[in-house]
Amino acid sequence: MAGIELTGLSTVYPNGVRAVDDLDLSITDGEFFALLGPSGCGKTTLLRTIAGLEQSSSGTVLIDGADVTRLEAGRRQVAMVFQDYALFPHMTVAENIAYPLRVRRATKQARQEAAVRTSGGLGLGTLLERRPAQLSGGQQQRVALARAIAMEAEVLLLDEPLSNLDARLRLEARTFLKRLQRELGMTTVFVTHDQAEALALADRIAVMSEGRIRQVGSPKEVFQRPRDTFVANFIGSTPMNLLSAIVREGHLEVAGTRLPLPPGVQLTDDTAVTVGIRPEYLRVDGGGEGITGTVSIVENLGVTSLVTLECPDGALVGLTVPEQDEPAVGTTLTAAPEPGRLLLYDGETGVLL
Ligand code: ATP
Repeated sequence: MAGIELTGLSTVYPNGVRAVDDLDLSITDGEFFALLGPSGCGKTTLLRTIAGLEQSSSGTVLIDGADVTRLEAGRRQVAMVFQDYALFPHMTVAENIAYPLRVRRATKQARQEAAVRTSGGLGLGTLLERRPAQLSGGQQQRVALARAIAMEAEVLLLDEPLSNLDARLRLEARTFLKRLQRELGMTTVFVTHDQAEALALADRIAVMSEGRIRQVGSPKEVFQRPRDTFVANFIGSTPMNLLSAIVREGHLEVAGTRLPLPPGVQLTDDTAVTVGIRPEYLRVDGGGEGITGTVSIVENLGVTSLVTLECPDGALVGLTVPEQDEPAVGTTLTAAPEPGRLLLYDGETGVLL
C-alpha cells in the first residue's frame, strides 16, 4: 500500500483558473482521507491531478515514495471512481468489473474469478449479467467501486461517490465503504462537499477553499477547534455562532453582554475578536455568565431543537436544547458556554487565537 505526498502542487487550467494553488499535503499509507470544501474550491481537480488525469503546472506528486508527477494516469497504480460512475453501457456488470483485468490481458477464467470475488462482498452476485441501465443508482455505484477494487491499485480515489443516493442508501453506502476500506487497507481519498459525510467517514479531513487547504485534522479536531472562521462556518450541521466582540477589562463584550475571557487568555483592552461557540455547547441551565436574548425562532431537529436568540445588540445566537425543553417564542433566556468550548478568532484575519 502507498502513501501520497504532494509538494507545492499547482494545477492551472488553460483559461488561467488556478484550481489547485501551491498545495502541500501528506496522506498516510492506508488512510481514509476526505477532501472537503464548497463547490468550485478545487477538490475534483486535486483528485484528478493525483490520478494523473490533469497535468500539474508545478510541484510534485509522490505515490509510495515514487515521483509520478510526469507519469501518465494508467501507470500510477491508482483507481478512481467518478461522480457519474462512468460504467460501460454495452458491457454486463461482470464485464465492467473485470475490465481492468482485460486491459491487463488476464485470461478469461481469471477475469470471471475476479468478477465473482469482488462482486460477492458488494452484494452484486445476482446482478452480474445485467447491464448498467438495468441497475439502480446505488447498484451502479457499487459496480463502479467493484471495478476500481478489481484493479488492485494501491490508491483509491473517490469523487463524491455517494452524491446520487437518497438519504437512506447513502447511510448504508457510507457504512459499507468504511468497512471495505478497513478490510482492504487501500489508501483512500474521498471528495465530498458534505461535511457530515466527511466527519463520519474520514480518519482525517482537509478543508479546502480557493485551491488551498485551510486545515487538515481529524474529524474531532476540525469540529472542535476549527483553525479559522471559514472552517468554523463550514463544519457542523448547525452553523457555529461567530459573534463580533471587544475586549474590555479582562472581559469580552459580546452580543450586548459581558463574558469572562477563557482561562489563560490575555488580550489587551479594545482588541477586536470574533467569538466562536457551537449551538451544541451553549447551556440554558448551566448557570454562570451567559448571553441573554429573546427567543425568536424555534426549529425542531428531531431529538433536539435549534433555538435562535435575538440579543439586545441585534446579534442572533443559536443554541440547541433537548426537544422536550423547547422554550416558547418571546421568552427571555440566558445561555452560558460550556467550560472550555469558547473559541476566539482574530477579529481581522479570522485565524484562531
Ligand atoms: P464541485 O464540488 O462543484 O465539483 P470542486 O471543488 O470539485 O467543485 P473543481 O471542479 O476542481 O472544484 O473546480 C475548481 C475550479 O476550476 C473552479 O473554479 C472551476 O470553475 C474550474 N475548472 C474546473 N474544471 C475546469 C476546466 N476543465 N477548465 C477550466 N476551469 C475549470
